[in-house]
Amino acid sequence: MAMAVIIDGKKISQQIKDELKEKTAALRAKGKTGALAVIQVGEDPASSVYVRNKKNACAYIGIESLAYELPEETKEAELLKLIEELNQKTEVKGILVQLPLPAHICEDKIIQAIDPKKDVDGFHPQSVGAMTIGEKGFLSCTPAGIIQLLKRSGIEITGKHCVVIGRSNIVGKPMALLMLRENATVTITHSKTKDLPKICKQADILIVAMGKPQYIGAEYIKEGAVVIDVGIHRDENNKLCGDVKFEEASSIASAITPVPGGVGPMTIAMLMNNCVQSIEEG
Ligand code: NAP
Repeated sequence: MAMAVIIDGKKISQQIKDELKEKTAALRAKGKTGALAVIQVGEDPASSVYVRNKKNACAYIGIESLAYELPEETKEAELLKLIEELNQKTEVKGILVQLPLPAHICEDKIIQAIDPKKDVDGFHPQSVGAMTIGEKGFLSCTPAGIIQLLKRSGIEITGKHCVVIGRSNIVGKPMALLMLRENATVTITHSKTKDLPKICKQADILIVAMGKPQYIGAEYIKEGAVVIDVGIHRDENNKLCGDVKFEEASSIASAITPVPGGVGPMTIAMLMNNCVQSIEEG
């Protein structure tokens, strides 16, 4: 049986970061610089890893990062005050609040407090609205990274049937909208969808963002389909795995993303892309 091509997110994200490094140097030569403010509340270990990766990516590309590590018991009002200060600081071109936040802080309120011009995560309602109607604004990083993965792997999107599993605000919904913008025919599915395998089997491009470890197997995949696995989990041996049963899926798909090394590194590359865009515009 033919094995799927592995879509190498590590390599593609490295290419993007190298392009951005050059662009940042060129902007600096024209006097355009800026910093990314990264705010973490509490010490969730997974969040700490993400925050560290983001700081490292900034250092690689040549963007200054400002770290704000706040204690778990930080009050919502204090966090809002910090965001307001960062909104006012002209040298700060991007503000990122690492999610999830502790339960006593309302995430929506925090996201909405960020100046949309600095909303490099693309979560502010204004950014989401702009993306929806095709206006300029920051694109949500994980879905934008998946579009880049497909394009840079030479996978045609126009006219393809794309099935997205998941409708979250950070992955599923923006993913569906970006695939629509790229002229795919899009089906969005979720936990109340009836006969999920049958719908998924119609997909030329199947994008899985359901948050269920190794759930999607052969019965969901059409011969020759492209499978994009957004899920990130640790299995019983503490090894990283996705929402897709990788071995099984790769004997049916024509191309597939691995976990790790697929979608994950693209998310950070697109965050950097948004930061560079903000420096360029600001
Ligand atoms: P989420 O908010 O938990 O959303 C999961 C979605 O999947 C929901 O819309 C849910 O439907 C749907 N779903 C759950 N079980 C289902 C089922 N049995 N059949 C059909 N649909 C089902 O998760 P998320 O934030 O979108 O993240 C999804 C995964 O991607 C997680 O593993 C997360 O860790 C990972 N992730 C990775 C990156 C990256 O950079 N690689 C970035 C973000 C997230 P309902 O709406 O009906 O509940």
